Amino acid sequence: MTPESKLREHICMLAKSMFDRGLTGGSTGNISARTADGGLLVSPTGTSFGRLDPARLSRFNSKGRLVDGDEPTKEMPLHSAFYETRSKTGAVVHLHSCHSVALSMMPDVDPDDFLPPLTPYGLMKLGRVKLLPFFLPGDPEMGKAVRGLAGKRSAVMLANHGPVVAGKDIEAACNAIEELEDTARLAMMTRRLGAKALNDDQIKALVTKFDIEWDQ
Ligand SMILES: [Zn+2]
Repeated sequence: MTPESKLREHICMLAKSMFDRGLTGGSTGNISARTADGGLLVSPTGTSFGRLDPARLSRFNSKGRLVDGDEPTKEMPLHSAFYETRSKTGAVVHLHSCHSVALSMMPDVDPDDFLPPLTPYGLMKLGRVKLLPFFLPGDPEMGKAVRGLAGKRSAVMLANHGPVVAGKDIEAACNAIEELEDTARLAMMTRRLGAKALNDDQIKALVTKFDIEWDQ
């Protein structure tokens, strides 16, 4: 098995795992990963995470030209924005995950710091998460909004829509977006219950020890 066919299988396996656990339903969600030659593998438009075909993933060459597979997701500008502004990005994932979408609709959420600091891994895997405004699906303005962050955030939340997370590889991006959804679920579960979030000293200790992208 070549490294690329392994990567194709890995993408489809992780997508199916997220679909099977209800992290994104129907034909929602999209995923992309860098190939060894500087190209990209991308989930095709209109496909379900539960049934991605490794052989039909959209394949871009290092110049960004589609060279094989089906038409890519229409959210391609969103993915490209992360690859272009964060040079270490090896994969990008977008889900329509229930609890993070619910949290994005709450009127008192801080757009510059979408997730409350509830657990260490939420901070370690995501840093600060930016809440972007509502855009029509496929609107290239979404990509512009991500570029406007100048590579300073690895995770954004599209209001009333879903999270988008970049990682160094496919495993890291999927783990991080799952952490985002889990933290949003905790935030929704404990809303208005007086739950104690991490305090400033605890946050500072985590940021220092784990070199988290935080003060940006
Ligand atoms: Zn979407």
